[in-house]
Amino acid sequence: MSLLHPSNKEEFEKYILDVENFPKENVVFKDISPLLANKFTEVVTAFSQAPIDWSGVEHIIGIESRGFILGSALAIHLNKGFIPIRKKGKLPPPVYSQSYQLEYGEDILEMKEISSPSSVVLVDDVLATGGTIQAAAKLCERNNFSIKAKLFLINLTFLNQLKESNPLIHSLIEY
Ligand code: AMP
Repeated sequence: MSLLHPSNKEEFEKYILDVENFPKENVVFKDISPLLANKFTEVVTAFSQAPIDWSGVEHIIGIESRGFILGSALAIHLNKGFIPIRKKGKLPPPVYSQSYQLEYGEDILEMKEISSPSSVVLVDDVLATGGTIQAAAKLCERNNFSIKAKLFLINLTFLNQLKESNPLIHSLIEY
């Protein structure tokens, strides 16, 4: 179920555009730019109201690149630290690397090796097939991080069944 009140959900959906055949044929890209331009504070507030015990959370982890926008804003809102998970080659060593399958292609994600354990919440804009979040979770596990939640603006439920099997997954809007 969506974390949003139905009226908020309708309001948010008005600002999410479907862009057909981007970035490649047969993909319908969810463009959240208008939502960020018009409802950024409301989105971050809605994230902060997810049923998570925030007092035990030390870091918000944002996944490149729209996860940076949402995750860093949430980190400031909740006064938490922020840790980025980036595409291959962007972070200086030492890093952990994890390959993953995208809805459109294959890639590698990386996270800095961090010696102190942490309790974290992962943030990204869209949950599609789930490859990205699974790779991100593996990187967290390699750092001995304890994952308290996985937060998404949008869950494309027709592309994954992850929510049914994973109580840590929360999203504001489901399609
Ligand atoms: P996946 O690994 O298939 O769950 O894909 C999730 C990642 O790809 C997220 O970081 C999204 O930003 C991006 N993504 C995948 N599908 C879409 C889509 N239809 N619209 C916008 N972003 C998408």
